[in-house]
Amino acid sequence: MTLTHRPTPAATFPNLGDRLATPALNYVAGRWEEASSGATFAVRNPAMPSEVLGRFPESAPADVARAITAAQDAFHTWSRLPAPQRGQVIARAIALLKERAEELAHALSWESGKVLAEARVEVTRGLNAMEYLVAEARRQAGQTIPSELPGTVTYTVRRPLGVVGLITPWNFPFAIPAWKVVPALVTGNTVVMKPAEQTPVCTALIVQAFDEAGLPSGVLNLVNGGPAVGEAIVADPAIKAISFTGSTAVGKLINQRASARLAKVQLELGGKNAAIVLDDADLDLAAREIAMGAWGTTGQRCTATSRVIVMKGVASALLDRLKTHAAALKVGHGLEDGRTMGPLINQEALDKVERYVAIARQEGATVLCGGERLGGELSEGYFYAPTLLTGVKPHHTVANEEIFGPVLSVIEVGSCEEALQVANSVPYGLSSAVFTRDVGRVFGYAEALETGLLHVNCATVLSEVHLPFGGMKDSGFGGREMGPTVIDFFTEWQTMYLRHL
Ligand code: NAD
Repeated sequence: MTLTHRPTPAATFPNLGDRLATPALNYVAGRWEEASSGATFAVRNPAMPSEVLGRFPESAPADVARAITAAQDAFHTWSRLPAPQRGQVIARAIALLKERAEELAHALSWESGKVLAEARVEVTRGLNAMEYLVAEARRQAGQTIPSELPGTVTYTVRRPLGVVGLITPWNFPFAIPAWKVVPALVTGNTVVMKPAEQTPVCTALIVQAFDEAGLPSGVLNLVNGGPAVGEAIVADPAIKAISFTGSTAVGKLINQRASARLAKVQLELGGKNAAIVLDDADLDLAAREIAMGAWGTTGQRCTATSRVIVMKGVASALLDRLKTHAAALKVGHGLEDGRTMGPLINQEALDKVERYVAIARQEGATVLCGGERLGGELSEGYFYAPTLLTGVKPHHTVANEEIFGPVLSVIEVGSCEEALQVANSVPYGLSSAVFTRDVGRVFGYAEALETGLLHVNCATVLSEVHLPFGGMKDSGFGGREMGPTVIDFFTEWQTMYLRHL
C-alpha cells in the first residue's frame, strides 16, 4: 500500500484545488477574502498528518463583526423576498452541490478521515436534507384560528429572526452545515457560519455553491477559525439565534452566554448511547447493527453505540459475534479502496481514547479485542484498533463519559428492568436501541427510555432527514433539527387580530 504517492483529491477535482489555493478564504458580503490579520492555520489529513490540505484564515473578532454587519445589511431585502423565490436560489445551489457530490465525498474523506463509502453516504444524506428543507419555501404555513369576537379574523404567521449564527463540529463536515444552512435561509434569516477548524473544506464548497447560485451579497457569510471565532459570534448582540452542534461542555457555555441576552439557542450535543440486548434477541442482527453503530465512522458519531447492555444468558454468544465483526474491519486511509474504518480526527482524540482505555483497565474491565494504537504503515496517522471492553460496570468511567472513538463497553445485567435502569443512568439522552422479539418489552423500552431517538432491532445511528433529530438531558436543548420541527427554531410566531369594519 502506498500512502504518499497517490493523486490527492485536490489534484483530481480542479474546483477543489482552486478552493484550497493558499490560503483558502472567508466569504463576507459576497466576497472571498483573507482574515484581516492575514493569519492562517493548516488543515491536515488525519490519516497522514504530514499532508496539509490547505491553509485557512485565522479570523479575528473584527472579521466576525464585519460578517455580522454584512448579514444585518442584507436582512431587510432577503427577509422580504417571497419565500418561494428564496427557495429558487437555494435550490440552484443544491443542484450545483449534487453535480459535485463525488468531489464533496472525496474532500470530506480527505479532511475528516472518514472512509469514502461513509463519506458518500454523508453527502447523499446532506443533499437529501437540503432538498427536504428547501421545500419549506412553499410550506412555512401559519394557522387561521376562529376568533371569539364578531367581525374579527385571527391568524398566525412565521417571521424570520434576523442574523443567525451556525457553529458546527468536524465529525459531519458536510451534512451538519448543509442541514443547518437551508432552514436558516429559507425562512428569511441571514447567516454567519463557522465550521470546525479541523474540517473547513466542505463548508467552503457549500458556500461556493450558494455564491455561484446567485445568493445576494451578505445573506450568507463564512468566517473560519477556532473557538475564539465561535465566541465572537455568540457574544455579538446582533446574533438573534445560534444553532450549535458539538460537545456538551461548549454547548452549555454557549447557552449561558446567549440566553443572558435572550438569544435563541439550539444545541445538538454529546451522547453515551446504549444498545440493550434482551435474551430473546436475534443475536446475528444485534451484533451486526451494534458493530456498525460502535465502529462505523471510527465511533466518532454523537449517536454512536458506546454501551451494550446485555442479559447474562446471551452475553457470551453476543461477544463472539461482536469480536468477529471487529476482526473483519479493514482499518486504513479513508481514500484507499476497501477500507472500512478510518483514523481518529487528531492527536488529542487519539490521546483521549488511549486515556479512557487505560482507565477502563485500572477500574477492572477486560480488553477483549483492540485496546491499542495501530502501528506499521498506519503509524503516522491517528489510527486506533476497534476495541471491545468486557466486565464493565455501570459505575465505571467508560460507562458514563463520552469517549468519541471506536470503543464499545459491554455491561451484563440480570433482567430487562435492570437493563432499562442502567441505560438511563447516564447524563446523556441522545439515542438508544433495544433488540428483542417481544412487543411488550418494546413498549416497556419506549416508555422508559430517556432518549430523543429510539430504535427497535436497528442501530442507534439510524436517522432520516425528514424526521426530527435531537436528544434529551445533556444531549440536546432548544428544539429538534431536521424534520418539520426545525422551522420552529428559525422562526418566531406573530399573531394577528384583524377586525373588519
Ligand atoms: P466542540 O464543542 O469542541 O466544537 C464544536 C464547534 O464549536 C467547533 O466549530 C468549535 O470551534 C466551536 N467552539 C469551540 N469552543 C467554542 C466556544 N467557547 N464558543 C463558541 N464556539 C466554540 O465539539 P467537536 O469536538 O467539534 O465535536 C464533537 C462533539 O460534537 C461530540 O461531543 C459529539 O457528540 C458532538 N456532536 C453532536 C451531534 C448531535 O447532533 N447531537 C452531532 C455531531 C457531533
